[in-house]
Amino acid sequence: MERVYNFSPGPSMLAQPVLEKAQKDLMCYGTTGMSVMEMSHRSKMYTDIFDKTVADLRELMNIPEDYDVLFLQGGATEQFSAIPLNLMVNGKADYVDSGNFAHLAAEEAKRYGAVNIAASSRADNYTYVPDLAAANFDPEADYVHITQNNTIYGTRYTELPDVKAPIVCDASSMILSEPMDVTRYGVIYAGAQKNIGPSGLCVAVVRKDLLGKANKLCPKLMNWTVQSEKGSMYNTPNTWGIYLAGLTFDWLKSIGGIDAIHKVNVEKAQLLYDFLDESKLFKATAQKKYRSLMNVTFVTGDEAKDAAFVKAAAAEGLVNLKGHRTVGGMRASIYNAMPVDGVKKLVAFMKDFEAKNA
Ligand SMILES: *Cc1c(COP(=O)(O)O)cnc(C)c1O
Repeated sequence: MERVYNFSPGPSMLAQPVLEKAQKDLMCYGTTGMSVMEMSHRSKMYTDIFDKTVADLRELMNIPEDYDVLFLQGGATEQFSAIPLNLMVNGKADYVDSGNFAHLAAEEAKRYGAVNIAASSRADNYTYVPDLAAANFDPEADYVHITQNNTIYGTRYTELPDVKAPIVCDASSMILSEPMDVTRYGVIYAGAQKNIGPSGLCVAVVRKDLLGKANKLCPKLMNWTVQSEKGSMYNTPNTWGIYLAGLTFDWLKSIGGIDAIHKVNVEKAQLLYDFLDESKLFKATAQKKYRSLMNVTFVTGDEAKDAAFVKAAAAEGLVNLKGHRTVGGMRASIYNAMPVDGVKKLVAFMKDFEAKNA
């Protein structure tokens, strides 16, 4: 069986060299005589892997010393609770409501304090991201939460809000895909299953001055200060997930880092959007200015044709192109691990489908 081009929004493709290395080392990692899954998280063989993984992420993202790197569990969603529990000192926070995950993050924060929706595009089914310059930020907010790439709708922010409060960014579907100036953020967090590794793992980059403020009811596992003091090992971490994340970081470094992959990502997105903009059958759904580099959403305008397209594409080894159940249509998620060839094959297939169905 040949591998397919998997356009899934997450869990999504991993780079082939990552899978090959993991397979090669599966039974015996180096000279240890055991797999990474079987190692004690406190053993030197594992802490070496862990330390290198943190160092490589620091190098890739250019993370300054005054930020901590945490490997947490519970995906990005657990952070929806952890954020207010760690940061809501005065019980107030601003949320930018730019998509379903942004909405869920805000809903969860409401359990812990006053949430101000500073801007929202919910009424327009999130076809664009709300204008940050016109947003109604609360000068007393403990933090401003933003979802920089909206996975379901295929939109993204290319600019950050001009606010004093620390910016807390859900970067799940864009981390490592383009350069990010870490110093502009208070916290960057990302579920791993899009651009990093397997699901269940969450990477959080936390500015150190934001530690030590957690609500006293904050569960220890969600407490960034505890996790920082314990080197992300208050309990047994997701050792295998962190190892695979490390392999992904190795792979990214080997191909030239974030600047290099960003160029590839721009090329892939351009191939798809250029075709969509001239197509007689397919139409991109996100407003041009806000188009995501990672998730490309489109429709034919006819549900039956959408379904026929998704099915026919799958038969050609182009799988998981169905859009999210709340928006319908199609979505091609083209994260870092999707090769340019996968996108070229998709565009060629779309042209062919168009010729037969327009
Ligand atoms: C996938 C995703 C999530 C949810 O991640 P989990 O790891 O399933 O909790 C949250 N936010 C964004 C932007 C996502 O793309």
